[in-house]
Amino acid sequence: MGKEQTSTRILHHDRRQGTEAGAVHQPIHVSAEFAYAQAQDLIDVFQGKPGFTYARQATPSTARLEQLINEIEGGVGTICFSSGMAAISAVFLTLLQAGDHIVSSRYLFGNTNSLYQTLSNFGIEVTLVDACDVEAVAAAWQPNTRMVFAESIANPGTQIADLKGIGALCAERKVPFVLDNTLSTAWLAPGRHFQAALVVNSLSKALAGHGNVLGGAVTDTGIFDWSDYPHIFPAYRTAKTEQWGLTQIRKKGLRDMGAALTGESAHKIAVGLETLDLRMQRICSSALQLARFLQEHPQVSKVYYPGLENHPQHQRAKEYFPRGNGGLVSFELYSGVNLLRFLDQLQVIILSTHLGDSRSLILPVAQTIYHEMGPQMSAEMGIDEQLLRLSVGLEDPIDLQNDLDAALTFASEV
Ligand SMILES: *Cc1c(COP(=O)(O)O)cnc(C)c1O
Repeated sequence: MGKEQTSTRILHHDRRQGTEAGAVHQPIHVSAEFAYAQAQDLIDVFQGKPGFTYARQATPSTARLEQLINEIEGGVGTICFSSGMAAISAVFLTLLQAGDHIVSSRYLFGNTNSLYQTLSNFGIEVTLVDACDVEAVAAAWQPNTRMVFAESIANPGTQIADLKGIGALCAERKVPFVLDNTLSTAWLAPGRHFQAALVVNSLSKALAGHGNVLGGAVTDTGIFDWSDYPHIFPAYRTAKTEQWGLTQIRKKGLRDMGAALTGESAHKIAVGLETLDLRMQRICSSALQLARFLQEHPQVSKVYYPGLENHPQHQRAKEYFPRGNGGLVSFELYSGVNLLRFLDQLQVIILSTHLGDSRSLILPVAQTIYHEMGPQMSAEMGIDEQLLRLSVGLEDPIDLQNDLDAALTFASEV
């Protein structure tokens, strides 16, 4: 028998690790501290021997979730955090120093963009570029460029950066490529396909999948040689070089900054992951159906979905993500269609932020997640006042289609 598929391995992971009384789930570990009968054993763990000391750094529950995420991304190690933003913050704050420079895609999750403002207070400069074109990334390069950051499918515009080009450029210039794989998930493509050094995932979205938990993760793909990175503390240069980056992120990020995942959350995320394969199949097929439906609708002026033939990166999407294009469908209503009237009329689709839930969610973008950015910057980022972000869930797609249709018709009858 060859290597089993990821979905099979996820389902049997806990049991095969060995559990008490034949349990098929690992227990939820709630202990804050871990005790030792022999002083030397406690000292050994503090000095680097595998083991547990305090739940801010690791527990058996978070460790087994880290193994699962690592398995899905095909990495050499993974660290879990209390949210996706905690994971992203940890990468920047532990690997960068004042005077460093990041080249980042400008098609970006709003909170990551907001985090860049904080980084600038600490002397870390960010250049935002149109990362759909690798030439723009290369053109923004500076002698102090230490990192390139992009999302696999951008939220909310669904742009697909030239991930392969960026991966190759970073490999050539020996700088880590950090990929936020949240919108696609490794089910569409693991980050290592694009030569990403570090892959960050919000576990709160499609990976956990039920809108009942927050979590985040950083996976090292093993592709980057950390001996080429100038900012690893001497104390973390002792293990194998492939572990240097993660060791620093765990010590400086998780231990010192403290955004640790709880055992209860780790359990919920692991249960959600068991159905990732089924959910992603359904979500991708429903999203494509709805995108096609919206594209033909007389009240809809634009639809952004990589699976549509007229999406600017459609060919790239086919190459990168042969299994589908995820559950995020953005669309604009014609200016005459009343946006709020449309939203208030929806009966099935829920008016809420968040993505990757089992329920379909919709959000007016400019007025909510882009509100803080102001009209000028929003317009520069292509955020129209009539733009909506739909996160397609697991309902029967015909109910979603009928719901959209009825509300669109209602909103246009004014
Ligand atoms: C939601 C999201 C995040 C942040 O994750 P949280 O778990 O909500 O902190 C990061 N990146 C992208 C692309 C996201 O959609």
